[in-house]
Amino acid sequence: MPLPTSPLVDEPVPQPRRWGEAELARLAAMVEQQTLFYWNGPQTAALVAEFRRLYPLEHVFPCSSGTAALHVAVAALRLQPGDEVIVPPITDMGTVIGVLYQQAVPVFADLEPQTYTLDPADVRRRITAKTRAIIPVHLGGNPCDLAALLPLAREHRLAVVEDCAQAWGARWQGRPVGLHGDVACFSLNEHKHVSCGDGGIVATNDARLGPGIAKWGDKFYDRVVGGRDPEELAPNYRISEPQSAVAAAQLPRLPDIAARRTRAGERLTAALAGTPGLLLPEVRPGDTSSYWFYVLRLQPGRFRVSRDEFAAALAAEGVGCQAGYIPRPIYQYPVFRNHNFFGGHWPVRQLGLTAMDYRQTSCPVAEAILRDCVKFTLNEAMTDAYIDKVAAAVRAVARRLER
Ligand SMILES: *Cc1c(COP(=O)(O)O)cnc(C)c1O
Repeated sequence: MPLPTSPLVDEPVPQPRRWGEAELARLAAMVEQQTLFYWNGPQTAALVAEFRRLYPLEHVFPCSSGTAALHVAVAALRLQPGDEVIVPPITDMGTVIGVLYQQAVPVFADLEPQTYTLDPADVRRRITAKTRAIIPVHLGGNPCDLAALLPLAREHRLAVVEDCAQAWGARWQGRPVGLHGDVACFSLNEHKHVSCGDGGIVATNDARLGPGIAKWGDKFYDRVVGGRDPEELAPNYRISEPQSAVAAAQLPRLPDIAARRTRAGERLTAALAGTPGLLLPEVRPGDTSSYWFYVLRLQPGRFRVSRDEFAAALAAEGVGCQAGYIPRPIYQYPVFRNHNFFGGHWPVRQLGLTAMDYRQTSCPVAEAILRDCVKFTLNEAMTDAYIDKVAAAVRAVARRLER
């Protein structure tokens, strides 16, 4: 394949400036404080207030990561060993880590081919007498089909833990994701829409789960009552004032960041519409994706080259992209294939509380997505003109490599 002499995208991938005066001001105020502890900390209080402005939820616990937020959410459900939690197979390990630590069993359901979110029909097929919860992951900022998943959960009395780690600013039917399930979990890690390096938030309006939620991330110590008399086993997943200071300054930036990403993603889809051989991402009518990434698929057999060669051709034209997303569905990771959860053991299986064998798990749509997808860099610094250049390059490469 001849290399292009001058790439179609003739400028570097734009990079937003992510931190500045607002973060500095909060950090400066913080160093005047007597304490950097989160409880009664002014920065953590500010973070909670800023979060509530965007997500009006009653009980909010800022914590050390998105993984921690999800573990706290699952722990608060007080699942029994062997209880099942339905999860998608294309996600971060953080979605399932807490499920496994609570001795519950992640059950993988397949995805829809163009939204990359849980297929409600397959979720229904995977429900058993042991199913207690669903964790819909709004992957890449695209809202799950909650119109189908919420009634399904209600019908089977399942808790819904929304994994919003990649979906800051996304909206389902006009309202932010995170406000629809029983518990919402967010990540503030380096790579998310807003970040403080590492951090997370778990939040709920549930009157039963809410009052105890902080204890599940703070050794089950009761900060309100004081003293130490823990009734449950819980890790330390606390945030600290330096993280909260940065995160509190980040959240007011979110509406603009999300709107710019939505605009860029929608513009790219519109500009690529009708390109032969491409399967474009879909957002359900009435929903708003906040495009943490932009993933499209190559239709099998439509190009003369492999997916990897196609992505390489795009990169040669200056397009920021990579072949694929995660290497394989997470149930194919060695930790799952070998049931290697606790020093080579999986107690709930050995005790006969589950017959799950992840070597038998199959989600054909998720596997196909990972085989034929290309992931594009997309961020809030990309102008319309830049997106138009990317789209022109993709169309040109697709035309050149068509079978
Ligand atoms: C990032 C992420 C997590 C975990 O968040 P951390 O802050 O990295 O622990 C969980 N779920 C999804 C979908 C994520 O993208």
